[in-house]
Amino acid sequence: MEPKIKIEHLGKNFFSRRQTIKALDDVNMEFAPGEFVSIVGPSGCGKSTIIRMIDDLIKPTSGTITIDGFTYDNKKEIPQSFIKKLGFVFQLPNLYPWLTVRQNLYLPLKVYGMMDSEHVHHVEDLLEMTNLTEVGNIYPNQISGGTAQRIGVIRGMVHKPEMLMMDEPFGALDDETREKLNMEMLNIWKQTGMTIIFITHNVSEAVLMSQRVYVMQANPGHVKAEVKIEFDEERSLELQHTKKFINYCNQIEELIGKVDLNDVV
Ligand code: ADP
Ligand code: MG
Repeated sequence: MEPKIKIEHLGKNFFSRRQTIKALDDVNMEFAPGEFVSIVGPSGCGKSTIIRMIDDLIKPTSGTITIDGFTYDNKKEIPQSFIKKLGFVFQLPNLYPWLTVRQNLYLPLKVYGMMDSEHVHHVEDLLEMTNLTEVGNIYPNQISGGTAQRIGVIRGMVHKPEMLMMDEPFGALDDETREKLNMEMLNIWKQTGMTIIFITHNVSEAVLMSQRVYVMQANPGHVKAEVKIEFDEERSLELQHTKKFINYCNQIEELIGKVDLNDVV
């Protein structure tokens, strides 16, 4: 099967007055349709840079990105029709305080010119799926941090994207709230069939939700390893106490922490 998203030989240098920062070097990744893949790695290894390049917000220095068979790079831009296939969720929900929750959710639809009955209905479905129908008409300052982040998550999906990029979406939440949202996210993923790229530095949440994990390292950012996550049983929070789960976590932690002696001068 053709990958939904393919990244080939992707490199990114940032130039400042004094130095060149090699943020990414020869990164290759593939995401199959409907796959849930996490990217883990230390701060500064280029995780956010990858999804900013997928969104074509910044240009790669080298390499290509292909979405649904369309390839773009340093010179070629991604068409609007492809941008609409992408959804984004960030660490902070940044809801507009002067708009109600529902009005905040309508905002991307208005920007994309998609404020039709199909998508308005979809907003209601998403609110229902996350048990948030009753907060639809209240203002962000009246809801908890966990609820605000849920809104941030579903705002990334109001236009029915086929691919969802989540950049440390639950990083600011306490463990209990995060775990709850992890399970809700899995539920949404199963119901929508979206291809999800989930960035986190929390190894446990990566193992809990993903089918595959890319492990990255910094200086320059590159893919160190790829770990397939397979469980016989359904994903649940109880899984976290099993030996297999803990082994996956240890394996990934070790890959992140491992210092290649050839890199040490
Ligand atoms: P991560 O998300 O994994 O923490 P980033 O993708 O944010 O990492 O950053 C990767 C590297 O690129 C870091 O060294 C960061 O300082 C650098 N970087 C990111 N954006 C810029 C920018 N706009 N200008 C200069 N350097 C940047
Ligand atoms: Mg980041």
